[in-house]
Amino acid sequence: MAFRVLTVFAAALSLVSCRGGEETPPPAPTPKVEIAPILDREDAVDTHSYAKPLEARVYHVALDLDVDFQSQRVKGTATLAIDAKPDATEIVLDDRGLEIEKVTDAKGAPLDFAIGEVDESLGAPLTVKIGKARKIVVHYTSAENASALQFLTPQQTAGKKHPFLFSQGQAIENRSWIPTQDSPGIRQSWEARIRVPNPLVAVMSAPKAGDKIPDGDSHTIYRFKMDKSVPPYLIALAVGNLEFRPLGLRTGVWAEPETLPKAAAELADTEKMVTAAEDLFGPYLWDRYDMLVLPPSFPFGGMENPTLTFLTPTFIAGDKSLVSLIAHELAHSWSGNLATNATWSDFWLNEGMTVWAEQRIIEKVYGKEQYDQKVQLSLDDMKSEIDGLEKPGDSALALDLKGRHPDDGFTGVPYDKGAAFLRTLEAAVGRDKFDAFMKGWFERHAFAPVTSGMFIEEVKDKLFANDEEAFEALGIEEWVYKPGIPDNLEPGNTEAFAEVDAAIAAFNEGGAPDAAAWKGWSTDERLRFLGRIEEEQTTERMAALDKALGLTGTGNNEVLFLWLKKVVANRYDPAVPRLEQFLTSQGRRKFVRPLIEALAEDKAWGREIAERVYPKARPLYHPMTTRDLDLLGLLPDAG
Ligand SMILES: [Zn+2]
Repeated sequence: MAFRVLTVFAAALSLVSCRGGEETPPPAPTPKVEIAPILDREDAVDTHSYAKPLEARVYHVALDLDVDFQSQRVKGTATLAIDAKPDATEIVLDDRGLEIEKVTDAKGAPLDFAIGEVDESLGAPLTVKIGKARKIVVHYTSAENASALQFLTPQQTAGKKHPFLFSQGQAIENRSWIPTQDSPGIRQSWEARIRVPNPLVAVMSAPKAGDKIPDGDSHTIYRFKMDKSVPPYLIALAVGNLEFRPLGLRTGVWAEPETLPKAAAELADTEKMVTAAEDLFGPYLWDRYDMLVLPPSFPFGGMENPTLTFLTPTFIAGDKSLVSLIAHELAHSWSGNLATNATWSDFWLNEGMTVWAEQRIIEKVYGKEQYDQKVQLSLDDMKSEIDGLEKPGDSALALDLKGRHPDDGFTGVPYDKGAAFLRTLEAAVGRDKFDAFMKGWFERHAFAPVTSGMFIEEVKDKLFANDEEAFEALGIEEWVYKPGIPDNLEPGNTEAFAEVDAAIAAFNEGGAPDAAAWKGWSTDERLRFLGRIEEEQTTERMAALDKALGLTGTGNNEVLFLWLKKVVANRYDPAVPRLEQFLTSQGRRKFVRPLIEALAEDKAWGREIAERVYPKARPLYHPMTTRDLDLLGLLPDAG
């Protein structure tokens, strides 16, 4: 591990300042700037970045950008602070389609730069001849159709009056709008000045740095500063007609005014969750925990951008039944944002830990019954995900993704198998011991990158005191590096859904759906039911289900999604209008991708629907969603 610490006492030069002959005490020194470590382990080599951080690395990014909705670009400068070997004369950045006007040193003297061969997934290396310069300024415009940026027309927002922009950096998208080293193992502190047209508001994944500044009558400048080092995929921006409502002392929500009241009501338990999470995992180190509810095209459930989680509006069910999403994004404040996978091959260290932590927060806030049920749902998801993988090898936790896009590893495996592994470990050593270990893990690796190898070494050392035999008995290396599910999987409370499971059995044997029981069930119980009844149903049985349970009309998007999967699998025509409406009104990838793929595969029935719906829905979808769906050939000119 290479660890360098740079201490800056910027104020030390002006010890005494005088005003009108009156002596004032010297200002306090600015806090030290700590450069986050770069791992030099073999399993920390990031094959999805061109950077050579052990030679020269970026440790601070200062953005000064103008957001232009007409051209759908951001334009300005990125000033990069560099830590490099004394003899280093160049730095390699990541770039995907950026238009670079020039690169200079801090004094404005031009520096030579070159953009290398373009790889479809990774983009290209941007090599700058820095010479002795350790601060450089890149003058640039974001890429055309930058994959990290989604510009929405007013029609695509809740309010329909103003345009909207949001960014999504994970995994390797930020290189399309920020010229830096775009690797999760190269943490950087950052700041930004963002100029936006009035009356739009800019928010970012960092605390505000001072008040907004009017720029003439037409524009306003917003300033932000993240003094903690973060992996660059966590630099995030949104611009829109946004308002804020506080939820608690350090929690609040941003949204379009049309969405804000509903969102605030749904998120009322957030402060409680932060307190529960601190009990479990240690102090919350990011000051505020705010959330931003985005327009419906946001491709994910949530994105854990520090201090400002980005959320899909599809979690709003009206009854807080889908707020485990908040527990999940909040948990990332420890797993992922404090201790971060050094490479996308170890994505389970971000997501598996987060699902485990999310379940524990739910238990603390809502009780053991809910915890037990969440665990069972996660195990079901794990099994069906692994069964459905195109490449069975992808069910290993640590993946070799060299030559593949990191998104190939973004399956349910790192999430649900990762959590199952941690619960298996927890069961083996006891909860108290395991909790202390996890708390220690986040503390030891706060603001630093981590790898699977490091996790295994620490488990062996700290949980098994290097007792080789006890360690080997758990098959930890098999869990992490081998595909499939090891035999010692901790099954959780298999009775958690006893009542629902009885109803499933009765229905599968031909019984009528039980409307009264359904009414009394929680969302998780309903999901269990829909996820476990037999896939194949006759049209009559589908109609009976729909009539008794009101599925086509449900406002709970998770329940609706499972129902619509059944609708497609069983070619249930009466629900097709609702299916079309769902696919053209939101763009959450988890929902739209499997439905459209299943439609497209069904040549005799679904393909026609997919060909009709996809061209209509596509403008709403994020580039990360259309990247895969475009390959299905559903667009008219694609044939
Ligand atoms: Zn997550």
